[in-house]
Amino acid sequence: MYKAPRGTADILPEEQSYWRFAESRATDLCRLYGYQRLDTPAFEDFQLFTRSIGEGTDIVTKEMYTFEDRSGNVLALRPEGTAPVCRAYLEHGMDNLPQPVKLYYLAAIFRYERPQSGRYRQHYQFGFEAVGDSDPALDAEVIDMAWQFYSSLGLKNLFLLINSIGCKKCRPRYLDNLKIYYSDHLVGLCPDCKSRFEKNPLRLLDCKKSSCYGMAEKAPKSIDFLCRECLAHFQAVVGYLEALKLPFKLNHRLVRGLDYYTKTVFEIQPPGEAAQSALGGGGRYDDLIQELGGKPTPAIGFAAGLERVVLNLKKQKIVVPDLTATPVFIAHLGNEAKLEAMKLARTLRDNGIAAIMATGDRSLKGQLRLANSLCSNYAAIIGDNEVKSGVVTLRNMMTGEQETLAATALVKLLKEGT
Ligand code: AMP
Repeated sequence: MYKAPRGTADILPEEQSYWRFAESRATDLCRLYGYQRLDTPAFEDFQLFTRSIGEGTDIVTKEMYTFEDRSGNVLALRPEGTAPVCRAYLEHGMDNLPQPVKLYYLAAIFRYERPQSGRYRQHYQFGFEAVGDSDPALDAEVIDMAWQFYSSLGLKNLFLLINSIGCKKCRPRYLDNLKIYYSDHLVGLCPDCKSRFEKNPLRLLDCKKSSCYGMAEKAPKSIDFLCRECLAHFQAVVGYLEALKLPFKLNHRLVRGLDYYTKTVFEIQPPGEAAQSALGGGGRYDDLIQELGGKPTPAIGFAAGLERVVLNLKKQKIVVPDLTATPVFIAHLGNEAKLEAMKLARTLRDNGIAAIMATGDRSLKGQLRLANSLCSNYAAIIGDNEVKSGVVTLRNMMTGEQETLAATALVKLLKEGT
């Protein structure tokens, strides 16, 4: 027997109402904030990701699904959504549109990670990006939009964490200080952090191991090393967030896992959980578009993991709209009746009424049992008598009451009832 590959999951019919709920809230939100949908391919030139996410990051060194196609092109399954949006922005000349260009996506993301609860090798993200504006008001608007996404789902008691990790002018001085601090503590670090110290010192701050946590808590803070421009930007963002009354907390250990971030970074976390269960995160990436060959173009974005959204909807016992239709069941006896049943199913569907016609060779009793287990409120029954008289017997499955009527009258009755 085949099984879904490790770290992937089927989204079964009974789960779909959670997913459609999350997606409909996401698309409503995008309409309200003026974002338009962009769909990009599931795979891209692998260099798009190595150049943007960063050579030393976990995603690039350990997690990308990279492969060579039959023509020798080296491609990678999309491990995140921002770089493809920036590639499309440049490829389609969106820099000529009024800025910022506001785009969103709902897409599968692929990362070869160690599977655990809420961590998959294929997961889905809802993300949005505002490209082409450096105004701190845009940072606040994006953070607000992310927060409103979770509020609109009814999720409660979430944490909104923010930080600023500076820009390429001020970050080197901060990293020097961070390395000086950590060089005195190297022996106590976990093996991963020892390598981070060399390759990606910023990530020392968000190690989840308890041995490293205490050290990160006392480490120098990026906020104390910001250049004048980054500090003014950060203060403006904070001012706007306060005006919007968003319940944010400054967290100096928040650095995010991708290299392209500059200035503002933020994350939304569920109640009472470890940091690896972040519900979503984002930040500014003012150098990325230029890095990918465009002119200097500031931008900011956010992405939410939808599996974790669904997990938290269930944990918080949020009732989502039930999307399953309760179809009219069409039972029949005899070959002629079966033909009439098919025609009736078509007529009902043409009138917007969900219908399921019995197939196979069940007895009438068996067909009605099936109608019951499909939760049909009505069964339309066609036998020899009905065929002869050109009518249908409608059975109310709750009460067992039956009445005989013509197909047109049946449509009218069912339409009134829906
Ligand atoms: P990131 O691009 O790593 O910040 O991811 C954005 C969001 O996607 C995270 O906050 C998570 O909610 C979700 N996410 C990231 N990686 C995974 C994964 N392997 N499985 C499920 N969700 C994930």
